[in-house]
Amino acid sequence: MMLIDLRSDTVTKPTPEMKEYMFSADVGDDVFGEDKTVIQLEEKIAGMFGLNAALFCPSGTMTNQIALRINTEPQDEVICDRTSHIYNYEGGGAAYNSMVSLRLLNGERGRFTAVDVEENINPDDIHFPKTSLVALENTVNKGGGCYYKLGTIKAISAAAKSNNLKMHLDGARIFNALVETRESPKDYGKCFDTISVCFSKGLGAPVGSAILGTHESIKKARRVRKVLGGAMRQSGYLAAAAIYALDNNIDRLKSDHKRAKSLATIFETKNYVTDILSVETNIVILSIDPSYGSTRLLDELQSNGILAVPFGKNTIRFVTHLDITDDMINEIEIVLK
Ligand SMILES: *Cc1c(COP(=O)(O)O)cnc(C)c1O
Repeated sequence: MMLIDLRSDTVTKPTPEMKEYMFSADVGDDVFGEDKTVIQLEEKIAGMFGLNAALFCPSGTMTNQIALRINTEPQDEVICDRTSHIYNYEGGGAAYNSMVSLRLLNGERGRFTAVDVEENINPDDIHFPKTSLVALENTVNKGGGCYYKLGTIKAISAAAKSNNLKMHLDGARIFNALVETRESPKDYGKCFDTISVCFSKGLGAPVGSAILGTHESIKKARRVRKVLGGAMRQSGYLAAAAIYALDNNIDRLKSDHKRAKSLATIFETKNYVTDILSVETNIVILSIDPSYGSTRLLDELQSNGILAVPFGKNTIRFVTHLDITDDMINEIEIVLK
């Protein structure tokens, strides 16, 4: 039986070409600043977004946590959406690592506006936590992979700037957004103080994320990474995979999006599916009729080698990625006939 793993775009395995590139990396001890490949990756990704510096980290959770720490002070408040990874999936790290509270917005599929931000900035009064950072996610995972338009982000950034707030982008899947909008990463760089980019999602590298910012902020980030235990040694082998991914796996994200749309079409005709969030990138979120039950569908799929994840009450998430082929999508259609 063919295994069709749609649980996440993190499940991809390096291709022979990526491994070849990894094995030939020029490495050194990165804590001594001597790993040429890590430095090359950091310069490359910062340059793509028009920012001055970047720091390679073991995970996107770490880059987000570092961003919270360097852009806030204890007692501050961070504006983010209630669906955000920072709130839902980082183990309460905002409180634990940065001693900040989160102001949760109720955006449309996780996307909020400049007006939402302005309405949620606390007055300068000792009763209230000091609002200091806006964190937004693009694409929005819990929003079913929907993306922002640059115009909305520019407006949020202008609102933040005029209120002395910092801006962080959780860009775990930023390239999924950019291949659709054809907007320039450099325009994104202008809107944010820090940006987090994952290499281990749709780009298909085995490990790693980067945080991007100014020389000054990345110097601070380096200190925080160290205390979180994220300073690595010959990590150039991993950085090489990320370089390979940036060079080879960005444009192809479009085909993941096409396959996600095909997958959604298969489910459109099923009477146990009550809703499908319109597919914008590589994520498909189905609402399942409670009388049928999402567990029943997940079990049925699993017995046919098709894996997805429960994603809240009566909801299932599928994510397409580099290891998913057209044949696999056809197979799903046959299985569900
Ligand atoms: C996956 C993801 C992250 C980072 O996850 P790690 O598994 O820690 O690398 C951050 N934000 C979003 C939106 C994600 O989907």
